Amino acid sequence: MTQSSPTAEKAAPQVPLAENPFQMAVAQFDAAADHMNLDEEMRYTLRRCRREFTVNFPVEMDDGRRQGFTGYRVHHNESLGPTKGGIRYHQDVTLDEVRALAMWMTWKCAVTGLPFGGAKGGVTVNPKLLSRSELENLTRRYATEISHIIGPNKDIPAPDVNTDPQVMAWIMDTFSMHEGHLIPAVVTGKPIVLGGSEGRFEATGRGVLYCAQEASRYRNLPLEGATVAVQGFGNAGYASAYLLEEVGARVVAASDTSGAIYNGKGFDARALTRYKQQGGRLAESAAGDLIAPEELLELPVDILIPAALEGQITERNASRIKAKLILEAANGPTTPAADTILADAGIMVVPDIVANAGGVIVSYFEWMQNNQCAHWDEEEVNARLHRIITKAFNDTVKVAGAEKVTLRMAAYMLAINRVVEATKLRGIYP
Ligand code: NAD
Repeated sequence: MTQSSPTAEKAAPQVPLAENPFQMAVAQFDAAADHMNLDEEMRYTLRRCRREFTVNFPVEMDDGRRQGFTGYRVHHNESLGPTKGGIRYHQDVTLDEVRALAMWMTWKCAVTGLPFGGAKGGVTVNPKLLSRSELENLTRRYATEISHIIGPNKDIPAPDVNTDPQVMAWIMDTFSMHEGHLIPAVVTGKPIVLGGSEGRFEATGRGVLYCAQEASRYRNLPLEGATVAVQGFGNAGYASAYLLEEVGARVVAASDTSGAIYNGKGFDARALTRYKQQGGRLAESAAGDLIAPEELLELPVDILIPAALEGQITERNASRIKAKLILEAANGPTTPAADTILADAGIMVVPDIVANAGGVIVSYFEWMQNNQCAHWDEEEVNARLHRIITKAFNDTVKVAGAEKVTLRMAAYMLAINRVVEATKLRGIYP
């Protein structure tokens, strides 16, 4: 067992300054704030996270040893409502990464018009090195540590990288045991039998599909026959892939942490998804030929879907990207410097806070259903998702056209305006 212990600082990778995710998030905010002539007071508030919680806690491992772990839960802004955001388990999780992800959640909820602020959580751990019981112990202890600041009307976690409905079930159960009664609305992305929503599992991918359908009209790029490369074949990535395949696109490249594969004829994305869900590694799949992971981003495809981690498209590779349309299923995959290069090259980038908002939108539906003791069918969930995400997309396109800015800048302007208006109306307490 080689988990980081006892401090996260030691475990944290030395991220180059320009690619520190929080500096990236602040730079994106600053660019929009400059364009909007936002006053200093608001900039001061919105450049920072409202509440940052670091927890160091022991977990009993299968061999009886106690091992120390570090986790975080960060609330960026709660002007529009209780905070919302996923929980990530990854060996490279740092406070700055969680801060960035929390800030992006604020803008994502605001641009889509959800009554939520932004939050995120994470534990610095490689969960692939844990047994199932160690994973459950870690989850229950982390949930206990952050239980003071989460709650159905306070802050509602959801899945992110390496967390899933089972992890959400453990968090819900732990929180409910402390309160003495079942509280399903404390997390979203739960198994359906425990109050999860129909359609939540593939909601992020479905949102990507709906954005692709809108973008294809503006970009004059029919999805029928379009070629697609997906970096990060996990929850967000594989659902994007098989749903795009269903409307006639051809998924020709995919990657995970084991490597990248290419098949010019196109994969069977559903079959590849099943293979991944059963624990398969893409590098060992017979579905395509191995290519270098960095090559995937630079393939001559129509649509590129980064669906792994932050900081993948940078000034080092942006000029070699040949896709006509980039749909950011991941959070923060493109650095600000790369954004400029892509804009100059005429590549349409549908920004993360719109492109991957399907996940939080259906999480909002799940939270609503839990609060109303209701259960909607999948058709209703998908119809409502379609309405909200296509409105966010089209509002963004409209602002981009009027202000002559990129889609990212337009989405930020819309989001920041809503948060600023709410903050000003609420005033300062006391
Ligand atoms: P996941 O754990 O289900 O999948 C992540 C996938 O990315 C895995 O297949 C992993 O092997 C792969 N991966 C990791 N690092 C990689 C690398 N360097 N190169 C290639 N592949 C790599 O996680 P997820 O929930 O799909 O999240 C992926 C991204 O989508 C994250 O940025 C997350 O914040 C974002 N996102 C997820 C959701 C959601 O509902 N799950 C919603 C919005 C945004």
